[in-house]
Amino acid sequence: MYLPGVGPKKAEILFGELEIETFKDLLYYFPFRYIDRTRFYTVREINPELSYIQLYGEVVSVRFEGKEKGKKRLVCRFTDGTGSIDLVFFQGLTWIKDKIKPATKYVVFGKPNLFNGQINMVHPEVNIPETENPGAFSTNINGIYSSTEKLRNSYMENKVIVKFMYNLLNLVLNKIPETLPDYLIEQYKLMPLPEALLNIHFPQNQDLLVRARNRLQFDELFYIQLGILRHRTARVKANQGFVFDKVGERFNYFFENNLPFPLTSAQKRVVREMRRDMGSGKQMNRLLQGDVGSGKTLVALMIMLIAADNGFQSCIMAPTEILAAQHFSSVVQFLNGMDVKVSLLTGSTKKSKRVILYNELAKGTIDILIGTHALIEDDVQFKNLGLAVIDEQHRFGVEQRAKLWNKSKTHPHIMVMTATPIPRTLAMTVYGDLDVSIIDELPPGRKPVKTLTFNDSRRLHVFGFLKEQIKQGRQIYIVYPLIKESETMDYKYLEDGYESIVRAFPPPEYVTVVVHGKMKSADKDFSMNLFVSGKANIMIATSVIEVGVNVPNATVMVIESAERFGLAQLHQLRGRVGRGADQSYCLMMAGYKLSKESRKRLELMVATNDGFKIAEEDMKMRGPGDIEGTQQSGLPFKLRITDLSKDGDMLEAVRKIVESVLSKDPDLSNDENKTLKTNLENADSQKKFSAIS
Ligand code: ADP
Ligand code: MG
Repeated sequence: MYLPGVGPKKAEILFGELEIETFKDLLYYFPFRYIDRTRFYTVREINPELSYIQLYGEVVSVRFEGKEKGKKRLVCRFTDGTGSIDLVFFQGLTWIKDKIKPATKYVVFGKPNLFNGQINMVHPEVNIPETENPGAFSTNINGIYSSTEKLRNSYMENKVIVKFMYNLLNLVLNKIPETLPDYLIEQYKLMPLPEALLNIHFPQNQDLLVRARNRLQFDELFYIQLGILRHRTARVKANQGFVFDKVGERFNYFFENNLPFPLTSAQKRVVREMRRDMGSGKQMNRLLQGDVGSGKTLVALMIMLIAADNGFQSCIMAPTEILAAQHFSSVVQFLNGMDVKVSLLTGSTKKSKRVILYNELAKGTIDILIGTHALIEDDVQFKNLGLAVIDEQHRFGVEQRAKLWNKSKTHPHIMVMTATPIPRTLAMTVYGDLDVSIIDELPPGRKPVKTLTFNDSRRLHVFGFLKEQIKQGRQIYIVYPLIKESETMDYKYLEDGYESIVRAFPPPEYVTVVVHGKMKSADKDFSMNLFVSGKANIMIATSVIEVGVNVPNATVMVIESAERFGLAQLHQLRGRVGRGADQSYCLMMAGYKLSKESRKRLELMVATNDGFKIAEEDMKMRGPGDIEGTQQSGLPFKLRITDLSKDGDMLEAVRKIVESVLSKDPDLSNDENKTLKTNLENADSQKKFSAIS
């Protein structure tokens, strides 16, 4: 409010809308794009994808069109010799009519639109050039700041924000302290910070804008990485880990007698990586990434057996009851005949059972506890928790994970698993503190799932195909985006779908079960069991089955209103099939009218089965903050100028630089690194980062 032009009222709105409270906040509120007024386009070059552009030419005619009230408009035909377009005005018609004269040269500035197959410009700026050669008079590249409706309604449109920036820079430009030491600025030829801040708001030319952006990105990424890497060193130093140095009886027995199939070499490799961590005397903190169906559960089981061999308890926390129950039954099956006590704890575990379970857990008679969020409740006390595994970890919030960490005085070893592959750049920032293991190989014999899109009108054809599959003994999932009909969204919903499926697949010839999140868990279990045991042919579900469910005999995944689902979700759903030896199919049903994005998503699904590729594309399409898999945990810091889907090279380069700075001066105690130490302590990213691990 002390900035000229702002005052208390506007200051309050700036804070409420954009969280801008200090001069620094405002200074770091960067334009999200620029209008280059140094460049002139010709009419022939125009296409409707272009953002704001400038033209130079002559208005040839001015006329009114549309008689009815509200439709009346002024249309000026404009030409520059390469072609002509209409400039269209809906408001202030008489005033504009007076201003714009035929046979006069103008500089026109606006955004091309496509209307009835013709390109036009609505309400462009129309100015008289000050000289005959328009290239000479306009030399600005103008920043555009993202805005909100409230800001615009409070007289803070772009023009006003620009004015604030101007006033602010006038006030503080020569007082902005440098945030990087001289040696880095010299070595990497970075633009000094004040100059970069000036040019990001008021670029003198494209070249300087590029350099300014580079410098600010470098800064942003540098401090994030510095925070992460320092934090990691501190964590490793502070946390002694339990030493699991024995690979003993149970692991070996399992390996020799119970392992139903040979491990893939990727599974062997990641188990080795984890064994090394757990035996090192340091606390393991590892992320296991592996596409759906790559066999992560087995990896978790094997390292839990190592924990048991060393006299420790372990647990797996899964995001849904269905998944926890399934882990439980597959672990019990895997351990058939072995002396390992496994228990299940979920929200629906009866109180009487719980009491016994808590008791056994505290005494140490339970070796492996499998469950849901119920595991992190305070009543759950282990005798000696040595290893905690979190499945589908992106489904859990930061606090939930931290609670699990703290179930043991010495932090247990931690292994988090995710089947939503995270693009490398994101992994390096969001999970930069974790070591990463990757299973990049599916068990042998799996045939890639065939993915097809069908229009709703082909439903009967699809049903015919489903019947054929059922005849061959296969099972089918049909997934709906909604349970009930929605007034606002025209998507298929489960209740209606159920009726039409039962009509097309009548009992007793066919058995259809339903599972969705709003059901009582006993009912859910009942349906689930019918399907898992092969007694039901069709399972109708919402995306609750998206995560982890494993029924190898299911070969068809039908996704209704597939346009409604995000890429990661689609990929997860598809991952429910293709788990056995038979050819599997993913059939995506979609409406006629699809947005460009929806179409792109479906096309990508058809084109590839590779989860990592899908994750990369997802990030490009949606921006890193919105990636499924990070929504819940969120990016731990606000990125003001870096786009993780585009600036991966910069990130990698900066990470290396940070590593080299820290390898020479781990505590940042050298004189030359003083700035780094002070700034790091004050950085937002640092504060937020310490909260996540
Ligand atoms: P995800 O990584 O998606 O959690 P799962 O752990 O559920 O995958 O494994 C998928 C299926 O593959 C399970 O039926 C599992 O028993 C099987 N599986 C795991 N490892 C192998 C392997 N090495 N060879 C054959 N099948 C395997
Ligand atoms: Mg799984």
